[in-house]
Amino acid sequence: MNPLIYVDNNATTAVAPEVTEAMMPFFTEYWGNPSSMHTFGGGVKKYIDTAREQVAELIGAEHPHEIVFTSCGSESDNMAIRGAVDAMGGHPHVITTRVEHAAVLGPCHYLEDKGFRFSTLDVNEQGNLDLEQVRELSMSGKHTVASVMWANNETGVIFPIPEIGAIIKENGGVFHTDAVQMAGKLPLSVKDIPVDLLSISGHKIHAPKGVGALYIRRGTKVTPHIMGGHQERGRRAGTENVPYIVGLGKACELALQSMAKDANHERKLRDRLEQGILATCPGARVSGDLKNRLPNTTNISFEYVEGEAILLMLDDVGICASTGSACASGSLEPSHVLRAMDVPRTMLHGSIRFSFGRYSTEKDVDGILEQMPRIIARLREMSPFGHESGGTNCHCADSCA
Ligand code: PLP
Repeated sequence: MNPLIYVDNNATTAVAPEVTEAMMPFFTEYWGNPSSMHTFGGGVKKYIDTAREQVAELIGAEHPHEIVFTSCGSESDNMAIRGAVDAMGGHPHVITTRVEHAAVLGPCHYLEDKGFRFSTLDVNEQGNLDLEQVRELSMSGKHTVASVMWANNETGVIFPIPEIGAIIKENGGVFHTDAVQMAGKLPLSVKDIPVDLLSISGHKIHAPKGVGALYIRRGTKVTPHIMGGHQERGRRAGTENVPYIVGLGKACELALQSMAKDANHERKLRDRLEQGILATCPGARVSGDLKNRLPNTTNISFEYVEGEAILLMLDDVGICASTGSACASGSLEPSHVLRAMDVPRTMLHGSIRFSFGRYSTEKDVDGILEQMPRIIARLREMSPFGHESGGTNCHCADSCA
């Protein structure tokens, strides 16, 4: 069943038909083990090599062997951070930002709990970093592992990775970037940028869920966490997920071919939706640096309404979007990203992320614009504070304070 309107492409994307087509023979015909000595199995290895080249090309890696296939973006992030820290030895200083995805914050907090020195970079109200703070924190020099996302999954804000990488490298640290939301959406080339490690995820770029990759610049030391066989040059053991790796390669090839077209298409739709909502829904505000963000993403906050309530009403009419906040075990937690950006308290809970993709249409925008003013007006009527300016119907006043 396909949803009527899908604007949640930062959560996941539809598998491209070309990708499915490329993968199918590896379920039905070429199902051998690429490590086998016989031709039936060993012959499959060349398709993994092709996929490695396709991934390398998307991110401008100098050599395909700098690409390690993983199971997802989260694995790539974990492998990069924990692997680099392990390889460095001693007790490196771990640096990240307050607005990272849980896939980066999780391993960083794990290391903090283990006694590693851990620091986070702040963002301003636009969601931008302060390069002076990067410089100050990275002074700890060659015993630093820093992880800074390229583009934020909630707001789309893009961090200046070339400048940040230069500062970290000047001070001799190891630099990882989570490019899960950036790769495939805008051009990037690790050849020209001082990045040691870079994560990507298949299902954000029209490959299936369950495959990702980590770029490891030649010479960068990363201790493997899945040990055993010699696959991926000993960096990640386990028989390769051949169909999915082939699918990821194909998705990278397609992304490279249609990146400019997709970005223009998505930007046009995003901007029209944003302008339409701001014009028809009072008390709406876009979060994040409007100039410096992904072309497909907008994060809009609505004063005095709950994002989850908006989502449910959108879902009722077949529209799939996402909140800027995570809903954990029945209690509403405001988004750590929006909190870090000091989004006003009255808006913190009322955020919706719309993220467009290659298959989004003008009709999708029309459909959302038709529903949003009614939904917001209805929820404001229901809210005890909907017409006031001094309160909020927030359910977790403590964490909002
Ligand atoms: N990093 C970012 C910025 C993400 O948006 C996501 C997924 O939403 C991940 C990492 C995790 O990727 P995966 O779902 O492939 O584990």
